[in-house]
Amino acid sequence: MSVRVRYAPSPTGLQHIGGIRTALFNYFFARASKGTFILRIEDTDRERSTPEALDDLYATLEWLGIDYDEGPEKDGGYGPYVQSEREALYKEKASELVSAGRAYPCFCSAERLEHVRAEQKAAKKNIGYDRHCRDIPAADAEARIAAGEAHVIRLKVPLEGKTVFDDILLGQTGRKNKDINPDPVILKTDGFPTYHLANVVDDHMMGITHIMRAQEWIPSGPLHVLLYEAFDWKPPAYCHLPMVMGKDGQKLSKRHGSTAVSDFRKAGYLPEALMNFVSLLGWGYDDSREFFSKDDLCELFSLDKINKSPAVFDYRKLDWFNGQYIRMKDPVELKALLLPILIADGIIADPPTDEEKPIFDGAFPIIRERLKLLNDVSPMLRFLFVDPGTGELEDAVPKKSTPAQAAEALRAGLELLQNAPDVPDVHDEAACAVWDEERDGVFRARAEAEEWKIGAMLQPLRLAVTASKVSPPLFPAIRLLGIPESIKRTERLIEALESQG
Ligand code: GLU
Ligand code: ZN
Repeated sequence: MSVRVRYAPSPTGLQHIGGIRTALFNYFFARASKGTFILRIEDTDRERSTPEALDDLYATLEWLGIDYDEGPEKDGGYGPYVQSEREALYKEKASELVSAGRAYPCFCSAERLEHVRAEQKAAKKNIGYDRHCRDIPAADAEARIAAGEAHVIRLKVPLEGKTVFDDILLGQTGRKNKDINPDPVILKTDGFPTYHLANVVDDHMMGITHIMRAQEWIPSGPLHVLLYEAFDWKPPAYCHLPMVMGKDGQKLSKRHGSTAVSDFRKAGYLPEALMNFVSLLGWGYDDSREFFSKDDLCELFSLDKINKSPAVFDYRKLDWFNGQYIRMKDPVELKALLLPILIADGIIADPPTDEEKPIFDGAFPIIRERLKLLNDVSPMLRFLFVDPGTGELEDAVPKKSTPAQAAEALRAGLELLQNAPDVPDVHDEAACAVWDEERDGVFRARAEAEEWKIGAMLQPLRLAVTASKVSPPLFPAIRLLGIPESIKRTERLIEALESQG
């Protein structure tokens, strides 16, 4: 039997971590078992489905590089299955159930149902449909339908017994039939199916072999199994995925930080890093291996390595993965990702000028080692392209030191800069490394001669040049900025410190 699985999102909001975890696990499972991966848009809830959510879904899948294997013809290729385009099928299937006596039309008005609910509430009884129309003789019901009376179709849930299903991960679960929603609506007045009917019909018609989805769907399991039974179909295998928690053990939510994939994307995460990280939310190959490319996962993923226990979403670990993937990225590709960020942040021109290009090229190998997020590139390199001013003066003054002492250290630094040899071409990496190292030696020697700590000398200078306490290493920063501009900024800071007294 060839594996056929699907990702079946409802386009009612942004794609979040839990959703793409489901998508990825299904996708990897399909690829690893040489099976078929289907995308199915479950948009039968017309009030809650939005075009924005659909756009976000497509953009997210494309960004992650998840493709699907079949679907109805569209623009010369094929598109995903979309439930709102398959209405006729669900209607037909609902009437099949009515003919078989497994479902029935209900003519109750909204007012009547409201009245029933109010009475149940007053009597402190369970709230639910009272099965008022369950035993209307078929001929009567047909006549009322023929006369145009508004109605829904409800499933006949057995009054006795229990409905169970086997979950690959969790074993057997189930519920007494009397505790299942009494006769849920499967087809609405407007002829649109409810989620349960469309989901079950499609999973069967599409030959889905395994349903892998979030645990929040477990309560729907028995009802779905009843639908399969009503149709005389065999349900697929179920595998409900472990919960994703924040570090505090609560279900992952916005309280913990971003959960929308688009937020991660905008913040400068690489898709390969997010994919690797998400693949480990409830799955692991062995106890030690952490790095998995998409190709690895498409080969190695298997159901027997999914964990039962909840997965913890550790934002710091994701950041770590992202830094690792940035450093593994091909330099040309990485540059092509960073430049547009600098342009969008207004730091360099579009296209970059002939002056800006070599500065960026020279800075690239240095920041490459330090980036956690792609977007960190702007704060890191801003000082090279935009005059940052003097920054916070107090940052220029090392602990247990005074502004006057900082100014004195800067004067010494200024003198060393004035005597420094010309900076080499940025593309001559060896010469640049020598230049940086020599400056380091010269500055250290001076600090020693003055009996200053090296930090007392370099901290004010770093602030002068970059206006920030965190920046690329100082001497490459000075070299890239150029000696004249570094001198200008140093003199400016000396003045500011001295005027402070
Ligand atoms: N449309 C459901 C959702 O949005 C799919 C549940 C399932 O996979 O069966 O999660
Ligand atoms: Zn009714």
